[in-house]
Amino acid sequence: MGAAVGFVEIGAGVYVLRYPVLNVNVSLVVGAEVAVVVDTLSTTAQATELADAVRIVTTLPLVIVNTHHHFDHCMGNAVLAESSPGSQIWAHETTMVTLRDDGAKLQRAWYEEWAQNDPELAEGIATATLRAPDRAVHTESIMDIGGRVVELRHFGRGHTEGDLVVAVTDAHVLIAGDLIEQGGPPSFEDSFPLHWPETLAALRQTPWPTATVVPGHGALVDLDFVRAQHDELTELAWLIRDGDADGAAPESVAAKAPFGAAASLVAVRRGYAELSGRL
Ligand SMILES: [Zn+2]
Repeated sequence: MGAAVGFVEIGAGVYVLRYPVLNVNVSLVVGAEVAVVVDTLSTTAQATELADAVRIVTTLPLVIVNTHHHFDHCMGNAVLAESSPGSQIWAHETTMVTLRDDGAKLQRAWYEEWAQNDPELAEGIATATLRAPDRAVHTESIMDIGGRVVELRHFGRGHTEGDLVVAVTDAHVLIAGDLIEQGGPPSFEDSFPLHWPETLAALRQTPWPTATVVPGHGALVDLDFVRAQHDELTELAWLIRDGDADGAAPESVAAKAPFGAAASLVAVRRGYAELSGRL
């Protein structure tokens, strides 16, 4: 399975593990009574490595959080939950319902999506036991983990319908999930590109003293990076609205968009679908 992966402390009692496959970030927040694991990777093998890495940092009971329903953030839920009997799995209510009701269908679709390019990953996704979240967040939940609080917040539609942001305000750390991505364009396949800017605006209006932002993928960033990605998503949303008003082909709108033609084309199609009531 390659070199062992491990957590790095990025704030007081807050750790990030950067998993090399897809460059996914997993966060771990350690309180006095429990520790919170944010996202659980893609496969049983990956999640087993993750559970081992968690146990090097802490032996506390775990609470699990999924930032959204994509496989690279939740398919390890069962392994992590089994490593800490009785643990809860939190997610936004739509993420919980999606994984509970459509999980098996999604698992097959993800397998097919990756079978060509990464057969090992595809096989791992297909054979993992999907455990859906069992605790729903509507707009906010504040978790006391012993001596500190962790805030789970949903600011609206963006990367998916059910993105959660996790704030560890005493450590000035914000865990953004795929609402923010570093090292590649945001991923638009299940996105709401016309709403994503409002969602980031709401996030940026919080009074949280944020020094470090953990993106869903890639290197740690800061609020300046969030502002820049917010600006680009705003530009994209206006291009989509203008293109729709002008009857422009999605390809010609995507060619002008800030995230490259391929990624932006997915966004333009999603935006057009929403504007015509197909989403
Ligand atoms: Zn995602």
